[in-house]
Amino acid sequence: MTTYVWGYLEEYHEEREDILDAVQTVFGSGRLVLGPSVEGFEREYAAYHGLPHCVGVDNGTNAVKLGLEALGVGRGDEVITVSNTAAPTVVAIDEAGATPVFVDVDPVTYLMDTAQVEAAVTPRTRAVVPVHLYGQCVDMAPLRRLAEAHGLALLEDCAQAHGARHHGRLAGTMGDAAAFSFYPTKVLGAYGDGGAVVTARDDVDRNLRRLRYYGMEETYYVVATPGHNCRLDAVQAEILRRKLRRLDGYIAARREVARRYAEGLGDLTGESGLVLPAIAPGNDHVYYVYVVRHPRRDAIIEALKGYDISLNISYPWPVHTMTGFAHLGYATGSLPVTESLAKEIFSLPMYASLTPDLQDKVISALRQVLERL
Ligand SMILES: *Cc1c(COP(=O)(O)O)cnc(C)c1O
Repeated sequence: MTTYVWGYLEEYHEEREDILDAVQTVFGSGRLVLGPSVEGFEREYAAYHGLPHCVGVDNGTNAVKLGLEALGVGRGDEVITVSNTAAPTVVAIDEAGATPVFVDVDPVTYLMDTAQVEAAVTPRTRAVVPVHLYGQCVDMAPLRRLAEAHGLALLEDCAQAHGARHHGRLAGTMGDAAAFSFYPTKVLGAYGDGGAVVTARDDVDRNLRRLRYYGMEETYYVVATPGHNCRLDAVQAEILRRKLRRLDGYIAARREVARRYAEGLGDLTGESGLVLPAIAPGNDHVYYVYVVRHPRRDAIIEALKGYDISLNISYPWPVHTMTGFAHLGYATGSLPVTESLAKEIFSLPMYASLTPDLQDKVISALRQVLERL
């Protein structure tokens, strides 16, 4: 049997009864759109963050898009973010009608280099979208100072950082609003698509509820501007309620997997060229993915196929080099750290239900491959 980097099918086998019970709860309730399951999840997810508001939406991409729109971002505005992210971050900025502007990332943590943000601010800049990549947070203090000085909105992309902390503060509580994805592979994953935006701001909450519901505040009446249909599905919401109770357990299990990788591979760093994840000061990492780096990445991935281990790259192409974003005008070489990372990074299997036996198999296969390289 092939070992993959994700384990949501293994998790289903462990949690099957609870998941199917959630499905039956919704199907039998007669409330298939919004209703008590979505309201319940929104209340519980907001409470998890100690925030007054959570608005469930249909996926993480639309969580970023609606988050930006709810903060007043639109056509003609510029939004500063990173190219070293999942393309959906940037797709969402484009969908909101704004122009993405990229800064490079830190060569050690691979997170937004906040020192580069100020130089990217223009009179058209309206927002900054820091991405808490791989499960750890961007340093938010410099961004908050900058946002205040220039009157910018801060939207955290938390799609990879459910439950992560930065100097004790939860990801999603450090900006004006925060976008989450519940795509099945994420640290808190649904059984299909799902997303949410959390915020402490009453005005942003009200905008979000209107934007996800055609632009209506009252049924059948579009108030200010036409919105979208971006509601969180009730079945996914009920499943997420069950899984939210286990979120801290998932995170603890992921940290244990990371600890075992460090223990099993730590002696190889340096000479072999293998680089393990670095944790930035003040961060509690949740390890959405366990990203390592090696100059001979492609050869390693190929050799591991012989051990029935199928690895993944998050992400193989920097967004600014994709033909779909050629119109943004970034030449190759313009974001050197991002571009060099894309050639060398790869992810090892990481999920809460990864067994020590299976992980040992991965560690020993990787050790053998590196020795023969
Ligand atoms: C997964 C992801 C998204 C998009 O979420 P979807 O639910 O797949 O639309 C956005 N940003 C980042 C950083 C992601 O990892």
